[in-house]
Amino acid sequence: MAHELALRPGEPGLAYVDEVPEDRDAHGVLWQRYHHSRGPSGKPAGAWLNGQVHPDRLRETMARLHCPLCSFPAGRTGDGWLFVEPVTTETVEGRLTTWPAVCLEHALAYTRYRPDLRDGYTVVRSADPVLYGVRGRRLHWTSAAFETVERDALLPYERARGRWIVAERLVRKLTQTTVVIQAAEVVAG
Ligand SMILES: [Zn+2]
Repeated sequence: MAHELALRPGEPGLAYVDEVPEDRDAHGVLWQRYHHSRGPSGKPAGAWLNGQVHPDRLRETMARLHCPLCSFPAGRTGDGWLFVEPVTTETVEGRLTTWPAVCLEHALAYTRYRPDLRDGYTVVRSADPVLYGVRGRRLHWTSAAFETVERDALLPYERARGRWIVAERLVRKLTQTTVVIQAAEVVAG
């Protein structure tokens, strides 16, 4: 559902016509609005299965380093939090990811739910998964209307702050990494 955007009063950037404080994060970045439901414990409830990963839930679990499947703290050892990444030729150190850390119990289930892991995955621990920025839709104003410049932009906070992006995902940078499993195939469960 499209929410009406407006120019931000008094400074450059985007706003919602009916903006409320919850529309922005602590960095002043505007977020996509989602309908969400919460369970009795106040943790985000709602569908995860069948590839339907709830964006609101991803954001919250990413922010808190909680497992997106159970919303409890992600697996952590002296080497850091547990992340699962696609297998690529690039090193995982310094990699940017929009997928939250996972708890040990759900690590295997996680690999089956994630479309980006179809060609295999790397299991990695990151002692310092730095909150880096946001991924979302970048727009600009063309004297009469907003125009999408980039449907899927990834911006560090320095460039995203209150400006021209409607954020959809949080981005962390995996640093101080230790590879636990170099490459594994997703096994249907
Ligand atoms: Zn879990």
